[in-house]
Amino acid sequence: MQFQRLRLVGFKSFVDPTELFIEPGLTGVVGPNGCGKSNVLEGLRWVMGANSAKAMRGQGMDDVIFAGASGRPPRSHAEVQLTIDNAARRAPQPFTDAAVLEVSRRIDRGQGSTYRINGKEVRARDVQLLFADASTGANSPALVRQGQISELIAAKPQNRRRILEEAGGVSGLHTRRHEAELR
Ligand code: ATP
Ligand code: MG
Repeated sequence: MQFQRLRLVGFKSFVDPTELFIEPGLTGVVGPNGCGKSNVLEGLRWVMGANSAKAMRGQGMDDVIFAGASGRPPRSHAEVQLTIDNAARRAPQPFTDAAVLEVSRRIDRGQGSTYRINGKEVRARDVQLLFADASTGANSPALVRQGQISELIAAKPQNRRRILEEAGGVSGLHTRRHEAELR
């Protein structure tokens, strides 16, 4: 699964629709302090199902919605779309046969989030599971937050183990086992 495009609308500082194309290989995001580099990464984490306000550096989930700035009124919703190339057919079932996956998350102020995959409304869980086996996802160690390295060094062994499991691509198995046990 190759990330191709990230589209942010009303998300944090990205009040106007902003599209970022992600080419194969290493991608760098550069710019002056406060220009929105971390917000881009948070947009990526958010669309993959991040569900803690803290991970988004906010008090509540609605804090990801553009709050208004320099004469521009606040927005009532935010949306992030992630386009994924699935030409290699690596996406798990039931998405394996789709050549392209369009994952989107939208939040309306006071009303929570809705997720879609290729236009069809799905649960947050479905989006999280889509990424869980690809060593990526909202909690992926591939996305390193500012200050996260020092947290990692100070972490309890159990928490460090969770990070290693995520990197090893087995955390999706835990989630699926948990789901199976609930049924
Ligand atoms: P640094 O180089 O300091 O790490 P950065 O490029 O990572 O900076 P970000 O932290 O991504 O910058 O962006 C911070 C900017 O985003 C601030 O100007 C902040 O006001 C703005 N911002 C964050 N959340 C919102 C929001 N909900 N509405 C409007 N603006 C927001
Ligand atoms: Mg930053």
